[in-house]
Amino acid sequence: MLADMVAAILFSAIAMSAIVAVRYLLASGAFAWATHLRQPGLYRGQGGQMRAEIGWSLLSAFIYGAPAGVVAWGWRAQGWTRIYDDPFAYPLWYWPVSVLLYLAAHDCWFYWTHRAMHEPRLFRIAHAVHHASRPPTAWAAMSFHPWEALTGAIVIPALVFIIPIHVGALGLVLTVMTVMGVANHMGWEMFPRWLVRGPAGAWLITASHHQRHHEQYRCNYGLYFRFWDRLCGTDRGLGDFGEKRAIP
Ligand SMILES: [Zn+2]
Ligand SMILES: [Zn+2]
Repeated sequence: MLADMVAAILFSAIAMSAIVAVRYLLASGAFAWATHLRQPGLYRGQGGQMRAEIGWSLLSAFIYGAPAGVVAWGWRAQGWTRIYDDPFAYPLWYWPVSVLLYLAAHDCWFYWTHRAMHEPRLFRIAHAVHHASRPPTAWAAMSFHPWEALTGAIVIPALVFIIPIHVGALGLVLTVMTVMGVANHMGWEMFPRWLVRGPAGAWLITASHHQRHHEQYRCNYGLYFRFWDRLCGTDRGLGDFGEKRAIP
């Protein structure tokens, strides 16, 4: 009985790791291909760096997948978590609100842990791997040292115990997380100028914002929103990708 349960938990953790790895390869692969079509040669000379990014990212996929797999097992087998699948269990307005709550909570956690990892000692231990991408490519989305991957891997599995969310809304949160993680590193801006440079862009993080973090290090720490950067005076505005990488 206990052996069966342990086997089921292990299977769920391994299956989830495989799903995260495949999701990474598909998302980064798609955006690397889009980059090739749109800006051929943008990653020229970065073959070695991209191989390292893929290696670290696949390792991270297993670190992300393990806690998610255990929690997914607990949700299904033991009724753990506050994930619900009846769409009417909460009012419909709660659906978008729950998505925003998850993104805001993740953003807050990311801002402060990321900022802490820029202290020199922690930087060397946990965060230098991510900044070894100079400049990052679409493959750098999960290019983290295992210590950093661990700080990211526990966020959503912890939140599902605290904030109720419909399983479809959770899927949307994970999609936003995946797509923005890739897009923010790919070296060009996919969103239109009116959005990035307009009122919404003043609060939302896209590639132009995170590119500046990779250029200057001690600024633009946020994940989805510029709220914490602006509040704490660490926002240094948008990067422009230089001449070759200019926003169209
Ligand atoms: Zn980054
Ligand atoms: Zn950083």
